[in-house]
Amino acid sequence: MPRHSNISGTLYVVATPIGNLGDMSARARRVLAQVDLIAAEDTRHTRRLLTHFGIRAELWSYQDHNEAQMAERLLASLAQGREVALVSDAGTPLLSDPGFVLVRAARRRGFAVVPIPGANAAICALAASGLPCDRFLFLGFPPRTSAQRRAWLTGLRAEPGTLVFYESGNRAATSVADMSAVLGTERRAVLARELTKRFETFVEAPLGSLAERLHEEPEHRLGELVILVEGNRQTDGAAQEAEEARILTILSADLPLKQAAALTARITGGRKNRLYQLALRQQGKPDLK
Ligand code: SAM
Repeated sequence: MPRHSNISGTLYVVATPIGNLGDMSARARRVLAQVDLIAAEDTRHTRRLLTHFGIRAELWSYQDHNEAQMAERLLASLAQGREVALVSDAGTPLLSDPGFVLVRAARRRGFAVVPIPGANAAICALAASGLPCDRFLFLGFPPRTSAQRRAWLTGLRAEPGTLVFYESGNRAATSVADMSAVLGTERRAVLARELTKRFETFVEAPLGSLAERLHEEPEHRLGELVILVEGNRQTDGAAQEAEEARILTILSADLPLKQAAALTARITGGRKNRLYQLALRQQGKPDLK
């Protein structure tokens, strides 16, 4: 294993599959086979995965409840020059999984931290959802009670990026009903279920009807799921329009309106004709038909 530092060990943050074992990367297998020890969420689960790939390794349990104490032990191992890998039960560690305390402390103490990328349910769902991916917000699991959830969702109303949530099957129907109540029944949403597995399904519907389907059709609540909700496009559009108007006002103070509109279009990506009409209105002149 190449050492990333000659005075101490390296911490590898290793992604594992979220269902389909074919998604285990060759690099992840090589790293897991070569490190001195592996910190795992559920050691029995990880042992089965390693056995499948013919890997024998020393496994330490690293969970939310013993995170601080185990992080210290793992840091002591790194200080002795041992190579350590961190895995979770599925997907990428730290993403709604333990590992933050360890990674932050390892970085602060100057150890090399090397990501070994692979599956992640949120990114996997987003990439195939058909919802915009240019801007998104990963939110993990929503609060568990409806009252807390609604208050929390209220803070997300104006967010223009696609919202990505993890949710358990038994809370999915009430959670999506709350999203519909707070974010609006017409927002486009996608339910991505059992990703990379045999019964992988994507259901796309406005939030209101997705909530109804989840309530009435229990098969949509089975297995593991990711909920994606389109961002607030109105806010995005309004922000864009405000920016266009601001630039247009500045430029048309010193330039002929046509030139100001053309330049604003180049800066903002807006349409020249529409901006010219806007410039005319800003100057109190009638629109040209
Ligand atoms: N660290 C993991 C990752 O990188 O995706 C996520 C761990 S979190 C404890 C588990 C949640 O991720 C599940 O409740 C579900 O919301 C989502 N998830 C994990 N695997 C999934 C799959 N195969 N299909 C859909 N959602 C999945």
